[in-house]
Amino acid sequence: MEFWQYLQAGPWGDLQAWRWLASRFVGNFLNEGVFYLVAASLVWGLLHVALRRRLAHRLIAQWPSSADVRREMLYSLSTLLVFSAVGLAVLAAVISGKAEVYFQVRQHGWAWWVLSFPLMLLWHDFYFYVTHRLLHTRWWFRHVHGVHHRSRNPSPWAAYSFHPVEALINAMVTPLALAVVPLHVSVLLAFTVHQILRNAHGHAAVETMPSGFTRHWLWGRFTTTTHHHLHHETAKGNYGLWFTWWDRWLGTESGQYHQRFAEVTGRAQP
Ligand SMILES: [Zn+2]
Ligand SMILES: [Zn+2]
Repeated sequence: MEFWQYLQAGPWGDLQAWRWLASRFVGNFLNEGVFYLVAASLVWGLLHVALRRRLAHRLIAQWPSSADVRREMLYSLSTLLVFSAVGLAVLAAVISGKAEVYFQVRQHGWAWWVLSFPLMLLWHDFYFYVTHRLLHTRWWFRHVHGVHHRSRNPSPWAAYSFHPVEALINAMVTPLALAVVPLHVSVLLAFTVHQILRNAHGHAAVETMPSGFTRHWLWGRFTTTTHHHLHHETAKGNYGLWFTWWDRWLGTESGQYHQRFAEVTGRAQP
């Protein structure tokens, strides 16, 4: 019997259905865990270990402490559990026909396949900015978002270091999109790979972009590690995720941003 039939019949007394759900949950956890582990190890291994000496002059503040890294890993583990549960809900929605994840590009055409990825990035950026501003209101910061901000000097392992409620808010970005539009499996994959790589990179503690990047007419629209690092240092301003425009349009870009970036990237390599 398929999962959706169990679901429709009500799986609550059926041991096999519970086993199936548990195995899918573990599968989701391993999938999400591999993405996190590979991306964070890659950024950390490259910037904090292999190129540590060569990039020391690009350090935005200081190398993150091992206590910070341990806490970030622990909270990221709890985030993976939340993401896995949300993944299960998405799977149920797909199987029961309430959401559509498709495999053949021609089902919705090449134009939608090409457009859906940038649209997902724009949607994610907007959703993150709005929810992030909310998380910075007094109650939410004290009870929820403060967990992420315990890292004033974050490491790539902070990519998923959230309170479980914040993890749930962040995880909703994909189900909310799927409630409205169908998404090709490759778009979902690219979306996941992009978000975890840039997320780990945004918490990297060293600036890797070339000097002048933030003032460039095109590149200046993309956030940098310094952009998010300043957000962790001061917990004020620079709420954006992938792009700088929401902070600029709404006047929340940190006044120190360009100056700090220029200072970090202007240091001579010893
Ligand atoms: Zn952060
Ligand atoms: Zn924040």
